[in-house]
Amino acid sequence: MSNEAVSLHNPDYPVPEELRHNIAITTLDRIYNWSRARSVWPMLFGLACCAIEMIATAAARYDPARFGMEVMRPSPRQADLMIIAGTVTKKMVPQIVRLYNQMSEPRYVIAMGACASGGGPFKEGYSVVDGIDKFIPVDVYIPGCPPTPQALLQGFITLHEKIEGQSITTVPWYRKGEGEAIPVPVLGPDLIDPRQTALIRNVASQPPDTSDAAQEPATD
Ligand code: SF4
Repeated sequence: MSNEAVSLHNPDYPVPEELRHNIAITTLDRIYNWSRARSVWPMLFGLACCAIEMIATAAARYDPARFGMEVMRPSPRQADLMIIAGTVTKKMVPQIVRLYNQMSEPRYVIAMGACASGGGPFKEGYSVVDGIDKFIPVDVYIPGCPPTPQALLQGFITLHEKIEGQSITTVPWYRKGEGEAIPVPVLGPDLIDPRQTALIRNVASQPPDTSDAAQEPATD
């Protein structure tokens, strides 16, 4: 048993020193999460310049094989980690949400860089969204423009800590019933989130504001 496996020991059940490399007394949660955290499979896709740093992270110098993450999966069916690496354009959002829905649970999302986390230098630009978390849940945010490979590795470690804090008795994917897919946004003249349909209808049905204040040009 490796030294890392020694960390599996439950301190409530001490094992004699001479047996600690051969025997571990632990909880089901701990060994389940330990094995999951060390075999997270990322999906192979990138969106913009941050993806170059992600590619550098996957090369030999930083070697994500240390985390069991060296092979990026070309299919969402085989991946459990989506790294949003780059600027999220409105054109790409429907594809991202569709891919996220196709990943099976348990699945995790890392927002890599300023663009994926909040729009970055393109925030409020006509063609980008200000953060992928408006559409899919994000587990770890990595700051930077771009984040370095070291920062992405730190993001992996943070994700491992999150996984190791989960309990098999409370994780959502073991509850009864099927999880609901996120409605895929519709790209027309602008991006429409189907979850906002009622709000959009409500605003569109309001009569136009023709008061003098509404006609005056904004001064700031
Ligand atoms: S955060 Fe910076 S490096 Fe990353 S995609 Fe945006 S502009 Fe490019």
